[in-house]
Amino acid sequence: MSAQTDTPLGEIDAIFDRLKTRFASRATYSVDYRTYHLKQLGYMLKDNQQQIYDALKTDLDKGSWACDIEELYPIYNEIELAIRKLPEWMKTESRSKDAITTFKFISPRIVKQPKGVVLIIGPWNFPIQCVLIPLVNAIAAGCPVILKPSELSPAVSVLLSQLIPRYLDPEAYAVVAGGIEHATKLLEKEWGHIIYTGSTRVGRIVAAAAAKTLTPTTLELGGKSPVIVAECANIKVAMKRLLSLKQANIGQMCVSPDYILCVRSRVDELVSFCKNTLDEYWPKHPHPQSFLNTQATARLASKSGYNRQLSFLEHAEQQGTLIYRGETDEEKQRMGISLVLLDKGKDGGKVMQEEVFGPVLPIIVVEDLDEAIKYINDRPHPLALYGCTTTKKAQDRIIAETISGSLTFNDFGVATINRSLPFGGVGESGWGSYHGQDGFNTFTHNKPVLNSPFWTETIQTIRYPPLTPTKAWI
Ligand code: NAD
Repeated sequence: MSAQTDTPLGEIDAIFDRLKTRFASRATYSVDYRTYHLKQLGYMLKDNQQQIYDALKTDLDKGSWACDIEELYPIYNEIELAIRKLPEWMKTESRSKDAITTFKFISPRIVKQPKGVVLIIGPWNFPIQCVLIPLVNAIAAGCPVILKPSELSPAVSVLLSQLIPRYLDPEAYAVVAGGIEHATKLLEKEWGHIIYTGSTRVGRIVAAAAAKTLTPTTLELGGKSPVIVAECANIKVAMKRLLSLKQANIGQMCVSPDYILCVRSRVDELVSFCKNTLDEYWPKHPHPQSFLNTQATARLASKSGYNRQLSFLEHAEQQGTLIYRGETDEEKQRMGISLVLLDKGKDGGKVMQEEVFGPVLPIIVVEDLDEAIKYINDRPHPLALYGCTTTKKAQDRIIAETISGSLTFNDFGVATINRSLPFGGVGESGWGSYHGQDGFNTFTHNKPVLNSPFWTETIQTIRYPPLTPTKAWI
């Protein structure tokens, strides 16, 4: 972001107060208001599709295909679901299912109430969907919102700052464009809810700031998402799917497969299949479909991000563990997938200490499923865990013996786009979840409401002092 396009820091107080006033008016509560704004958001994306493509091209060199699949379609899906289901989600829930244990006569029920003004802080890697899906969920829940997109995706940030006030009620929805200083000032406020998507390091800062105002917080963080290749794996199908997801956004994706734990008996087959598939998927440059030319993916977003991947490759080369090198183009910051094979005693270096967040894919050799599960359990809980297995026995063991944000067998990244499932991490990969009804619930307070009828007075005498043994007996 540049100083010219940043929101002046001095304006933040007024924006926040404006949204608080709107919330207090309860204008954002009605189903009609919510539905109207969900539709408006959809029109905003449709009317300005080309500008969105252009902004994503500028920030990440994404082609239109990748913009549609990775950014726009997931948001349209969320909008469609919210509009269709909103009346059902908003409905007061009766809890008087059991007359004896729940005292049906006091009408126990859950009233769905918007929590208040929501703060959304987003990352650069999916700069549109990571702020607009939470926005869909917050609009559905009846909450006003301030969005703070990443300063590292400046074209998207500027575009959202221009479009949102044109399509949505400016008294209820606002974009604050800027970086750390802006986020820090925003985090001093008392919010109905904060949802932050980004690194675990900054997640700790956000959680500490939110603790000061006791603001409920959802943290959508990163980390290393492992893949287990078990003895019974269908390597051909699983690796075809894995490599196609790993190329999306050049691995700059929170649920991108970070490393593979492969049982020794299947390693040779796995390595040879991956090498052949990579050659087939991305023929060598100057072929128009080479990784350096393809429009189906992005570039590494920053020079430092590119150099970090390069340093992983250099280390692997020194260690003799680099078994397949993807093509690289420093000027375009493009880099094809590379494979690193780590067997006993081989030093993975930083690629095994940090989230890869790029096209390098380490393969670690383990003796069996026990060793793979232990490796995962010795580390922070991953956001996504993947299992390549064909037997129920192996699947049941992985389900029961590991903890992760999500667990998918024989496919990659699909849990993120399934609208019936919550999306979120556990432990160091995040707190809470959103998407679909779970997103609506995140920004909604489930308020228990009861109503004690006067006719019960005759049986209530037991509670009024003086409390005598006779009354207790009754
Ligand atoms: P980041 O943490 O550097 O930045 C994210 C946001 O935090 C930006 O808006 C930034 O302005 C703000 N920020 C940065 N420093 C801050 C500070 N000191 N105080 C307050 N706010 C601050 O993350 P990033 O590099 O943009 O994103 C990459 C990370 O995000 C990866 O780890 C990735 O796995 C993770 N991620 C997670 C998800 C998910 O849904 N779980 C989705 C996308 C990305």
